[in-house]
Amino acid sequence: MVLPYGRQSINAEDIKVVEEVLRSDWLTTGPYVTRFEQEIAELAGSPNQAVSVTSGTAALHVAYAAAEVGPGDEVITTPLTFLATATTASMLGAKVVFADICEDTGNLDPRAAEAEITGATKVVAGVDYGGHPIDAEGLAAVAKKAGAYLLEDAAHSVGGSLDGTPVGSLADITTFSFFPTKNLTTGEGGAVVAKDADVVERARRFKGIGMVREPEQLRTTDEGAWWYEMPELGLNYRLNDLQAALGTSQLTRLAQFKARRQEITDRYNEGLAGIEQLRLPAHRDGAEPVWHLYPLRITDGRRRELFDHLRGQGIGVQVNYIPVYWQPYYADLGYKRGMCPTAEAYYEQEISLPMFPDLTDGDVDRVVELIRSFCGA
Ligand SMILES: *Cc1c(COP(=O)(O)O)cnc(C)c1O
Repeated sequence: MVLPYGRQSINAEDIKVVEEVLRSDWLTTGPYVTRFEQEIAELAGSPNQAVSVTSGTAALHVAYAAAEVGPGDEVITTPLTFLATATTASMLGAKVVFADICEDTGNLDPRAAEAEITGATKVVAGVDYGGHPIDAEGLAAVAKKAGAYLLEDAAHSVGGSLDGTPVGSLADITTFSFFPTKNLTTGEGGAVVAKDADVVERARRFKGIGMVREPEQLRTTDEGAWWYEMPELGLNYRLNDLQAALGTSQLTRLAQFKARRQEITDRYNEGLAGIEQLRLPAHRDGAEPVWHLYPLRITDGRRRELFDHLRGQGIGVQVNYIPVYWQPYYADLGYKRGMCPTAEAYYEQEISLPMFPDLTDGDVDRVVELIRSFCGA
């Protein structure tokens, strides 16, 4: 049996609530969507209701659109992320500028980001790599200096916090993913939270095909009750009630998931401590991560060998991430390898070990033993 690197935890309650929705009047936007959006806002400490969407990728697309990113604008982000952090800004016509990472956490380095500020900088987008929150104070100062929004791609870190402030209240705009390997799931899904009500309004409009019906938003008000208008372009990125119901049920166990992910991290840390060629995940003071990944680094140049060895033993390891600007799309636009050396070095050494709440201590110990013997420890 292959041990995956991540997987969902579904229980009888999750199944029951989805079944209940299937028997109800609402399959698309219904009462569970509203409830889920309120619960996500509460968790994130957001003054505005969250905007639920169909994926973390959609959340980023919606967030950049709500930040009014377009041609002529620049978005500064990290290359150590999933494609969507960058590609959704590219799709809106912006120029994506990659800045290097902090060597310890793998998160966007405020000093590297600051060096890329221009008059066109519209968004500074950090990623909570592995579930460890961004350097919010440092990046907020950079965004402020640039007159830009700070966006936090919190696909890995829903439920986390920094110095007591929940993820979702650290940046101007925060996006979440509810893909099955993430910290809670709706099958596919995502959400956007933002501090500014106008940003939230634009986000909601963009994910709803750009349509408005509220009388105060209409240019023509006397045509009839069927009337709607489309002041801007948008897409259909609506999360449905089946997914939202699963999300509300999952949310009741998020604290449990988070605690179990921390236990697994502690167990890996203990088991792998003191091995010369290994670097364990950094954990900065004040940060309360939700460990979506366990990003181990092996510094002796044998990452490929370790990866193949573990896969050969049925351990579903991963590599997170290939620097985004190495992708053919960005290479063809002239982005060069070597641009962000710290991120490239991180990538060359990184291997993500299995990490999900239902992983047993016995599974963790088996992975630890295989790595220890590979390292001759
Ligand atoms: C998973 C992920 C996304 C995209 O989320 P999907 O729900 O898979 O579309 C975006 N950013 C990061 C950092 C991710 O890990």
